Amino acid sequence: MSFQVAIDGPAGAGKSTVAKIVAAEKNFIYVDTGAMYRAMALYFLRNGIDGKDEAAVSNACRMLEVTISYQDGVQQVILNGENVSGQIRTEEVGSMASATSGYPAVREKLLMLQRRLAREADVLMDGRDIGTCVLPDADVKIYLTADSLERAKRRYKELKEKGVECDLSEIERDIIERDQRDMTRELSPLKQAEDAILLDSSHMTLREVVDEIGRIIDTALSPADAGGRP
Ligand code: C5P
Repeated sequence: MSFQVAIDGPAGAGKSTVAKIVAAEKNFIYVDTGAMYRAMALYFLRNGIDGKDEAAVSNACRMLEVTISYQDGVQQVILNGENVSGQIRTEEVGSMASATSGYPAVREKLLMLQRRLAREADVLMDGRDIGTCVLPDADVKIYLTADSLERAKRRYKELKEKGVECDLSEIERDIIERDQRDMTRELSPLKQAEDAILLDSSHMTLREVVDEIGRIIDTALSPADAGGRP
């Protein structure tokens, strides 16, 4: 049986940064499910599909295939045979992903892939609905959050470092809007699973969050001494 860790939470909470480090330290495969929704969004954008038109989006789902592979341990997202990992990190793709991820045709397309990956290896999977829907029996469930201003500040810093002109209050507004949409959609909304551990990283350093999740995993792997894998 594979060991499954689910990390869910709102945009910009640091899930992927934390998950990548923890996965490497614990020797788990890291699965970034947001990247899969982004790859689908890239297809819709490239093909001029209106994200508000559910019929058009659902129809387009039949034309696309998303898979993933690993290069030196780093997840690559493949869209219809093309590695699109370098093209999915824009705000435009993120917004399209958020606008279309509530449609059943979009979610159904990815659910089987996500569950198969979790069966095949020990995984640390992050997203919005991993603990509630994709892996309801995960061994460890974490809900990682931080207040919206803190998340906006982190995003602002990241963009500034890349030389992108941006505005803090605009970033915070976008983050709140995206959370609202992810939390209120009908299908697999973002919410904390009943058996998930809540971790608020607003006043924690990256290292503190990584260590805390590492401790939670160790306890689940070896409850008697929390000393690691038996
Ligand atoms: O995490 P990331 O920003 O890459 O996700 C992009 C969008 O994909 C989210 O805003 C959300 O709407 C959607 N998503 C989802 N379920 C997941 C992961 C991402 O609906 N498990």
